[in-house]
Order: sequence, then C-alpha cells, then structure tokens
Amino acid sequence: MKLHEYQAKQILHDVGLPVPQGEVTSSPEGVRAIAERLGRRVVIKAQVLMGGRGKAGGIQLANTPDEAEQIVRNLLGKRLISPQNPQGMVVEKVLVEEAIDIAKEFYIGITVDRTSQRNALMVSQYGGMDIEEVAATHPDAIATVDIDPCIGLTDYKAREVLYAAGFDSALIRPLAPILHGLYRAYLACDANLAEINPCALTTDGQLMVADAKMTIDDNALFRQKRLAAYREESAEDPIEAEAQQRGVAYVRLGGNIGIIGNGAGLVMCTVDEVARAGGKPANFLDIGGGAKAEQVRQAVEIVLMDPNVKGLLFNIFGGITRGDEVAQGILDALQTMDIRIPIVVRLAGTHAEEGLALLRGTPLIPAETMQEAARRIVSLVQASAT
Ligand code: GDP
Ligand code: MN
Repeated sequence: MKLHEYQAKQILHDVGLPVPQGEVTSSPEGVRAIAERLGRRVVIKAQVLMGGRGKAGGIQLANTPDEAEQIVRNLLGKRLISPQNPQGMVVEKVLVEEAIDIAKEFYIGITVDRTSQRNALMVSQYGGMDIEEVAATHPDAIATVDIDPCIGLTDYKAREVLYAAGFDSALIRPLAPILHGLYRAYLACDANLAEINPCALTTDGQLMVADAKMTIDDNALFRQKRLAAYREESAEDPIEAEAQQRGVAYVRLGGNIGIIGNGAGLVMCTVDEVARAGGKPANFLDIGGGAKAEQVRQAVEIVLMDPNVKGLLFNIFGGITRGDEVAQGILDALQTMDIRIPIVVRLAGTHAEEGLALLRGTPLIPAETMQEAARRIVSLVQASAT
C-alpha cells in the first residue's frame, strides 16, 4: 500500500524529523483557512499517489490565502499526468504547507535490496525532481549502504554513506539523525520503501523533509493498526478495497469478461486465454484452495460490482476445491442476485461430475476445456453487444 505524502510526513514527524507545518483538505475554503492559520507563503501539494507531481503541475506556491484558494479551485478534480503515470490521477485532496526557501535538494531513500537481501540506504546530493535522471546518467552520484538487520543502522554507517556521496562535512552531523529517523519509521511501519525527496536545505541552513513517500508491505497490514485507517483514506479502486475487506484476491483489469478460478496460476492462465480468444478480461479473481459455496457466491458478488462485466467465466480445476461446492455457490449467487449475463463454467477434477449434475437444467453453460470456455464466453459477450 502506498501512503500519501501527508500520511508519510505525519509518520516522519512522529519519529522526530523536521517536517514543515501543514494540513490536508479537500475544499478550496479549507485551503484558505489553512493558509490563514499558517500566515505566510504556502506551498500547495496535490495528494495523488504518483511520482512527478511537480512536473505535472501538482505543486504550486501561493503568496496569499486568496491565491491559495484560487490555485486549489483549479487543481481539484484535475487529472495530473506524468511520465511515471501516463494514465494520470485525479486530484481530490491537497496538502497546504508553509513554503520553505530551498537552497539545495538532497535525496534519501531506503528500500529492500533483493540481491543483498537487506535493506539498502541510498543518499545523493542531487535530489529533487530529476533523481531518476541522476540515477540513469550519474549512478556514482548516489551512494548506497546495506543495513545489517541484526546490528541496525549504526552511526558510522550513516556517516560513511554520506561521505561516499560527497556531502560537505558540515552537513553530515545534521543529516545523520534524518537517516536514522527514516530507518526507524521504515522498520516500525513495515515499509518496503521510504523516501525523502527532496530533503531540503533551506536558505537559512535548516534541513526539512520537503517530500516523503512510503510504501507499506501489504502482508504486514494486519499488524499495522494505524496504517489500516490510512487505507480507507487512500484512493483505491472501490471494488478492490471491498474485495480486500472480504479477504478475496481480486484485481480489476478493465475489460468486460469477469473471471473466477481457483489458484493464481490457473486464473492468470484463464485471463490470457480469454485475451487470446479476442475478449477483454474484467478482472482476476482467485477463490483459493478449498473454497466453500459461500465464498464462491461472494466472489460472484464482487466481480459483478463492476458494471462493465457482460459475461462471467468460471474455470475450476478441483484438487482440494470441490466442483459440487463451487456449483452450489454459483447457484446460490443466481438465487440471491439478479444476474442477466451469460455464465460459462468449466469444471474439472474433484467432484466435477457432481458439480456438473447440479448445473444441469440451469442457465449456466458448461464447457469441457479452458480454451472452449474462453471462446464460448467471448462469443456470447460479443453477440450480446451487437
Ligand atoms: P514530486 O514532484 O511529486 O516529487 O513532488 P515534490 O513534493 O518533491 O515537489 C517537487 C518540487 O517542488 C521539489 O523538488 C521542490 O523543488 C519544489 N517544492 C516543494 N515544496 C516546496 C516549498 O515549500 N518551497 C519551494 N520553494 N519549493 C518547493
Ligand atoms: Mn518528490
């Protein structure tokens, strides 16, 4: 899960890092009020979960509360597009902060290094909006150090990496605590990425967290109670959020053929097969091993929350999952919901015959193989569209 800048900044503030004062809001009037409270020049920052907001027009300075309000009137509801995110994201919230006068911009980041199998700390004197370009053209301008998980980030390691990046010795003493703080927050939140870019050196010599980014390991969310609340504030796909609530492995793909299967590999394969047959998969949904009828019914409910779905394909290869249990779940769905789209069902493996027997005499369309099932649902959906 990606955190918004304002959420990451709250976390970094709480571990003691210097974060500019500010508040988040979703209304122009709110912006005016915050700007008045701050009582000085402010920076307005679109809270969208994408990189490159600055270049996309999502970061703007305002000298007066009037100006701040005006900027946000234009910004809210606008879609920001950046090279990192060509689809773009719509601005729904902004962070209003006291503007700082930046003299230099540094980069500080921690992420998992899969090669060393450790967390890696990276720093550069050339932070800011072009850090990707720095990484590509001057990789030596970024210094990296692995953090030993048993020892943690020692002060000498923090200094070593700052020296290696060529930082002025006068900056090393004040920067080291920021490295330590970022690492503390990274560990405490079960993050797999934490970045301060830029860490700003102001014209009066202060260091400030001007931008912060954090990504949390989804597998740790169960023990991150505080972050679970952030999840609701995050602009996730509403169906994916609902599926997550119910513990269903669902990913929205944007097409019109709903896909449900058991086992991630089989479902991915089914998605490919539908695409190969000329169809557009609406989603990935894995009911997992040994799913009971109620889970199957819930899976149908989730997939049909997407109004674009014009046909549904079940692909079940039963091992511990039983064909009759799945068939019963689909029938329960038909009973409890008003379903008017074709449903093709391929059942094989454990209790497939019993399952197929249950489906006889119902509107469900059986198919022998995955290929046949994919072709069938694609042609049915195409026929209904014309
Ligand atoms: P990003 O483009 O999504 O990474 O957004 P950032 O928050 O990093 O902002 C982009 C750039 O805007 C920064 O690199 C700064 O140059 C500038 N910026 C951000 N906040 C301030 C501020 O308070 N004052 C000034 N002068 N510039 C800022
Ligand atoms: Mn940034």
